Amino acid sequence: MRMTVKLGSTGIVADKNGFGCLPIQRVDDATAVKILRGAYEGGVNYYDTARGYTDSEHKLGLAFDKGMREKIFIATKSHASTAEGLLADLNTSLRELNTDYIDVYQFHNLSFVPRPGDESGIYDTLLEAKRQGKIRHIGLTSHRLPIALEAVESGLYETLQFPFSYLSVGQDIALVERCYANNVGFVAMKSLSGGLISNARGAWAFMAEHPGVLPIWGIQRMEELEEFLGYQKNPPVMEEEGIRAGIERDRKELDGEFCRGCGYCKPCPMGIDISWAARIEWFVKRGVPGHAFSEEFQNIMSKVSDCVECRQCVSRCPYGLDIPELIKRHNAFYQEALAGYRKL
Ligand code: SF4
Ligand code: SF4
Repeated sequence: MRMTVKLGSTGIVADKNGFGCLPIQRVDDATAVKILRGAYEGGVNYYDTARGYTDSEHKLGLAFDKGMREKIFIATKSHASTAEGLLADLNTSLRELNTDYIDVYQFHNLSFVPRPGDESGIYDTLLEAKRQGKIRHIGLTSHRLPIALEAVESGLYETLQFPFSYLSVGQDIALVERCYANNVGFVAMKSLSGGLISNARGAWAFMAEHPGVLPIWGIQRMEELEEFLGYQKNPPVMEEEGIRAGIERDRKELDGEFCRGCGYCKPCPMGIDISWAARIEWFVKRGVPGHAFSEEFQNIMSKVSDCVECRQCVSRCPYGLDIPELIKRHNAFYQEALAGYRKL
């Protein structure tokens, strides 16, 4: 039997394989349509996108025509913090998605929890959109635990989207439990921790142990899609040989403070690509994406020494990372590894 997730009070029953639509920005229209329709045929019925993911909404609109639209759930989101901006984003999303309603409309990682009657007016805008039938449920996405907790306890949100993977710590698991207790649907982003987790079987087995959690896997290749569809037919379990050990190894290796690659610290005034520079050690060690010593990455890492320690990035990192220190450490590792690689 397929594994599904009941999404809080929304009434949505989603296939356990949710589809994160950020990566389809990187492929052409025809490839995106092929992957999205392949997901649909494979039983995936929950698709999460964002106004901020360039043409991702447009590709969803191309893939799902009228006959298919009613059989799936579409979630999107907006960064807008003014009523006018939010309304403009909502109308653009409806047009791009080629639909007249959005199942879950989410505030996208704002620095506050919108409420009815507050001065931003954006919650009231969504209430009105709900009355008009343009949206069906109101959700919130965040990378910050205090914001997420406030939203869950407010009783104003039907879903919460938050990073969650087998590297998550106790307070994240407590958040999932609060959602469950408050009947708020929990949508897990970064279930492969921004590419650091290559053990997809382990990630799936972990999610299976959290029945109230809907992971949205970021997929941009048919092979990735087939892998996740295969897990529904033959679900990985923790007891399987090597799964628990692989998870434990990752937890030990990536313990503590590590960069999730979310990019919220951008822009750096010195042009440093922090989300790569702060993770390069893991990409070298794990061979992801396999070309860590290419000219492109050498250029990225060569800029690290330009850091003037202004700490603008630190104030924007939702995980409170000491970024100047982190990129320095990763660069030292990288330069040594690069020297070794050149000798080969
Ligand atoms: S501290 Fe360094 S990495 Fe961070 S924004 Fe300033 S120059 Fe860029
Ligand atoms: S340093 Fe922080 S904000 Fe920047 S990409 Fe990493 S986790 Fe995200």
